[in-house]
Amino acid sequence: MRKTFLEKGLGEPFIAFMINVKGGANNLMKSRRPSAVFFDAGETLVHPIPSFPQLFTEVCKVHGLEADIAEVSLTTRKLMAEVEERQREGYTFTNHPQRSRRFWLSFYGRLVNELGYRGDDGLARSLYETFSRPENYEAYPDAVEALEELARKGYRLGIISNFEPWLEDLLRRLGLAGYFEVMVISGNEEYEKPHPRIFQLALQRMGVSPETSLHVGDSPVSDFAGARDAGLRAVLLDRWGRFPDFRGERVRDLREIISLLE
Ligand SMILES: [Mg+2]
Repeated sequence: MRKTFLEKGLGEPFIAFMINVKGGANNLMKSRRPSAVFFDAGETLVHPIPSFPQLFTEVCKVHGLEADIAEVSLTTRKLMAEVEERQREGYTFTNHPQRSRRFWLSFYGRLVNELGYRGDDGLARSLYETFSRPENYEAYPDAVEALEELARKGYRLGIISNFEPWLEDLLRRLGLAGYFEVMVISGNEEYEKPHPRIFQLALQRMGVSPETSLHVGDSPVSDFAGARDAGLRAVLLDRWGRFPDFRGERVRDLREIISLLE
């Protein structure tokens, strides 16, 4: 081959060009294959026990209110969708522990009112305390399996979460903290998802580029749009099929991430 090129008078520069094209193509393919996987935490890796609406109704019961689980679930989703819309416009509520506390107290108060109860500060405070206790959370079984398999395959793993600083204790308590090289938690930073800066902080701390990183989470705004806008490959986790109109890469179970990466 080499002789033929030389004989045709194309010489070394042409050979070098051909090698570069071939090498370049290989590098491009490699660069598209993520080596780092970042995870959202709430409702992606961990969830309240037995679930947010069930635990919510249990706390209401202690306060003498009989709440309907399906109604709690529906109203929570409606209010959270409104919050997400405001987040698109730059509203933040988790990038400082005090701001987060104020937000959740007001959110629970509103949720109680929307359900038709007379909201009292005691109930909202009880709800905030209940959902701030690490012992009231557990990991999704598919999350544990996916993390184990990704770690075994040599992927570098990180957390990018809009959460209060105690998330780190929670992940430690659940035996998950050891999987992550970095944990970027909005309560410790000035920024929260979907702001690109929180994704950049995680990339910098791990020393990886957005092109070789993937982020997965359950929010189309904070996780999917946020990660994509920061240049990462983004995957929506849609466990319950709640986003039929969503256009983009999506999984129903975190173990599906493994085959997406092959
Ligand atoms: Mg989440």
